[in-house]
Amino acid sequence: MRYDLNVADVREASRGEFDVCIVGAGAAGITLTNELTRHGYRIALCEGGSDHFSEASQDCYKGKVIGDPYLTLDGSRLRFLGGSTNHWGGWCRPFTELDFRRDYLGPEYKWPIEYRELHSYLGKACNILEVRNDFGDIGPQDEVVRVFQFQFSPPVRFRGKYEKELTESRHAMLFLDANLIDIAGDRDNGGSRITSARFRSYTGKEMTIRARRFVFAMGGIENSRFLLWFAQRHGNRFYDSGAPIGKYWMEHPHFTLGKAIVGFETGKRRFYHLSDREQIRLRILGCGLRLDLQPEGGTDEMMKELSCAAPKLGKKVAALAEKNLVCGVRFRAAWEQAPVISNAVELGRSHDHFGIPRVDLHWKKHAIDRRTLNETVRVFNEWLLRGDLGRIQLRDWMVHDWNYPPQGEIAGNHHMGGTRMAESARYGVVDRNCKVFGSENLYIAGSSIYTTSGFGNPTLPLVQFALRLADHMRQTEAPLAG
Ligand SMILES: Cc1cc2nc3c(=O)[nH]c(=O)nc-3n(C[C@H](O)[C@H](O)[C@H](O)COP(=O)(O)OP(=O)(O)OC[C@H]3O[C@@H](n4cnc5c(N)ncnc54)[C@H](O)[C@@H]3O)c2cc1C
Repeated sequence: MRYDLNVADVREASRGEFDVCIVGAGAAGITLTNELTRHGYRIALCEGGSDHFSEASQDCYKGKVIGDPYLTLDGSRLRFLGGSTNHWGGWCRPFTELDFRRDYLGPEYKWPIEYRELHSYLGKACNILEVRNDFGDIGPQDEVVRVFQFQFSPPVRFRGKYEKELTESRHAMLFLDANLIDIAGDRDNGGSRITSARFRSYTGKEMTIRARRFVFAMGGIENSRFLLWFAQRHGNRFYDSGAPIGKYWMEHPHFTLGKAIVGFETGKRRFYHLSDREQIRLRILGCGLRLDLQPEGGTDEMMKELSCAAPKLGKKVAALAEKNLVCGVRFRAAWEQAPVISNAVELGRSHDHFGIPRVDLHWKKHAIDRRTLNETVRVFNEWLLRGDLGRIQLRDWMVHDWNYPPQGEIAGNHHMGGTRMAESARYGVVDRNCKVFGSENLYIAGSSIYTTSGFGNPTLPLVQFALRLADHMRQTEAPLAG
């Protein structure tokens, strides 16, 4: 069933105790709701936006960025049913084994789970996102450079795909225009258990949802924002407010590095990265290189230069160019950012419509981020030269190791970390089961739980994590009605 808190009378619909109250109806919240309702759990899915874009809702996403140039916070996400899948690009790639073994770089890189615990959900997550479950490396492989592929979702819009199922579900109550404003517990029970959450519409109507368990699935910035806000209001009462909430926030920096001419086939699905062994040897993180078929100017000059500098390769490239098999390509990178404590979601001084502090996002790229980029490019370039496979012409800022250009893609709209998973509250906010440290019944879903980010896009893994959380919830508590 579905209700709009702005206009509907929800007294009947919100009555009684739900098995789970899920806050936020994006990819994470909807996946979790579907999994649980199909097994008979009674779910209240509370979405702050409506079933379409509205300025009033989107305004709650405004905030300040402090540090490196970044996208606007209200421009890099959407706040209505389906969340940011209403405009995501559909690029998909899962985490790899190495992504869960980055602690050669320090204890803050350590995941409390192993790769295989997530991998078992890959097939199902691929079905949800409608992508082929085929992420094996492709093409001739080298000990140093690997050729890998992404898969592309149509892209699935969660609103379009699941609105009907949610509306018709016997077990899910979808509340729209229901903005989380507070959580509460019964003092009689010792108090640490959250027993209800309060929601308000834009017209000021309120509702209280009582539930046995609560999940925040409000996206990779809001999950931190609300944990910080409730820690400010309630101290340690509901969870460990001393955990690094909001900290170790991460993005995937994206930049065009220059242009290249290569003597092999490139294409939308082919990307390059360094082998695990090289990344570990160089003590860097993951970086995906892309030879993009959109030509940059100056290809002809590059071809001429190539014929002088490397006549054999020049001939090969010219022959391929005649068959349209090769041309000048744009050389781009998107890479994994290190989890650094000072990159953080914090509460700012101004407030949104509901009186909740807006976000100050502190975000910078650090020395290790530049090292990951520079070393990956250096090794890739050596690989091209060694095999006489092509030539790269880097932009000045890369050649001279200047600062990043202030314009361009900058980053991927990928909001990760802030409520990260760890073995203890020393380095993280949630445990291996996505439960907030110090809480009895509050869980987090979405890419804010990532301990490290890999260099692949975040949505496929966050759907896997939502499926895993659903399994955990089912294994630990049967539905009330069952
Ligand atoms: C332009 C763009 C392109 C992208 N392309 C890709 C891509 O190609 N591949 C990829 O993997 N990822 C991509 N992403 C990222 C992807 O969209 C996100 O990873 C994904 O949508 C996150 O899902 P989520 O459910 O965790 O959060 P969200 O989608 O942010 O959903 C959170 C939900 O919570 C609701 N909410 C927020 N606050 C409250 C509140 N206080 N009370 C109640 N409800 C609330 C929101 O309205 C929203 O519906 C892209 C993002 C953008 C912006």
